[in-house]
Amino acid sequence: MSELKACPFCIGEAEIAVYGNTKQGTSYQCLECSCTLETSETFNHGYSWNNRPYENKLKADAVRDEIEYIKSNRPHWHLSVEYEMMMDRLNKLERGEK
Ligand SMILES: [Zn+2]
Repeated sequence: MSELKACPFCIGEAEIAVYGNTKQGTSYQCLECSCTLETSETFNHGYSWNNRPYENKLKADAVRDEIEYIKSNRPHWHLSVEYEMMMDRLNKLERGEK
């Protein structure tokens, strides 16, 4: 299981309250605000809690805007290692990776 992301409502730490198996789904709970997420997830624990396409889209949009801003102010920046690193981060966000 990958590490759980912070709660989307309060940024608190979350835990798996019930590990899913063949008889029940997985439940997540925030330790700060007590919000819960009940899923039908029976394996790959952590996926449902961490899957946040809208959050990834917002981050990707911010990185894309930053890339365009820097490119417009630094003519040869697209040849730098920093540019490649930011493009790599953008591609990961667009694929839904952290
Ligand atoms: Zn919370």
